[in-house]
Amino acid sequence: MSRFFSSDYAALTPYTPGEQPRIQNLIKLNTNESPFPPSPKAQAYAKEAAQNLQLYSDPTAKRLHEALAANLGVEPDEVLATNGSDEILNFAFMAFCDKNHGAAFADLTYGFYPVFAQLNGISYTEIPLKDDFTIRTEDYFDLHKTIFIANPNAPTGVFLAKSEIERILRANPDSVVVVDEAYVDFGGESCVDLIHTYDNLLVTQTFSKSRSMAGARLGFGVGCKALIGDLNTIKYSTNPYNVNAMTMAAGVGALEDEAYTRANCRTIMENRAWTMAQLKALGFSMPDSMTNFIFAKHETIDGDTVYRELRARGILVRHFTLDKIKDHNRITVGSREQMQALVDALKEITGGCQ
Ligand code: PMP
Repeated sequence: MSRFFSSDYAALTPYTPGEQPRIQNLIKLNTNESPFPPSPKAQAYAKEAAQNLQLYSDPTAKRLHEALAANLGVEPDEVLATNGSDEILNFAFMAFCDKNHGAAFADLTYGFYPVFAQLNGISYTEIPLKDDFTIRTEDYFDLHKTIFIANPNAPTGVFLAKSEIERILRANPDSVVVVDEAYVDFGGESCVDLIHTYDNLLVTQTFSKSRSMAGARLGFGVGCKALIGDLNTIKYSTNPYNVNAMTMAAGVGALEDEAYTRANCRTIMENRAWTMAQLKALGFSMPDSMTNFIFAKHETIDGDTVYRELRARGILVRHFTLDKIKDHNRITVGSREQMQALVDALKEITGGCQ
């Protein structure tokens, strides 16, 4: 740390992203990326947009907002595109929390929430999940805090029914409830259509997972016009050109190729079911996943050993050191070939049987 670093941030522990090693033949199952390339239409539109990079990108993101709104069944001024969904989440912490209105989220959830809270000087409460990693809905009643719920949750993959989210929305009429749907396209049910019923609901989604565009950095928020207006105030006070022109164009291309996204999601869900069955036969247990990853724990081999043994065989998964989940590994569901390699390696590691 330099002697010039603001004392406001001196104690900040930044988010640690999953490793991005460039090792040949590595099977990378640690950051929940898609094994499929972006839609050919997304690639073609990005290439076309590259010809005009001398110009700033459209700060109103008109074309993209219109395409998103049509896709989601909402109005263009009920959506806001951002630089990954991480950006809209940070905007939400900035816009809807302050010294008198802190944040609340699960104790096991997306690791960026506490970082955003700290970054913005916001106090936060971590609400313990039950032992089976599910949420006790009543724990989220009358909190008088801005609530962040990853649904389905990460790193567990567990989905909370939409009717339960509605109970939380109704029990917190004076607080914004942010439903982070980064993984909703893999079997969950979106709350987007509830934005016309609840003026305290903000839904966030991403193009990083189901739409194979993690490297393009595109996310968005959906909420009533007033909430989106507040988020725009934050956007125009930080970076009006937050989404670059190539990414915006790629996003429109991806939305025009919805069939491609749906087919890829179906394949991932099939591969997930197959891999979960194989892992169970090898002595692993896991909560039911509604995401493109599996949160698995072996009955006798500790999580760190599984992680290291897989790594030694060229397979990278995500291991967390937090005590409650240190025996779990979060494994991205990839192509069938990648899953076969994973299962073959785990057969070796576990001795082939339970
Ligand atoms: N929410 C959750 C729950 C996530 O796991 C991630 C991915 N790390 C994000 C949001 C952010 O994704 P992105 O910024 O790539 O849209």
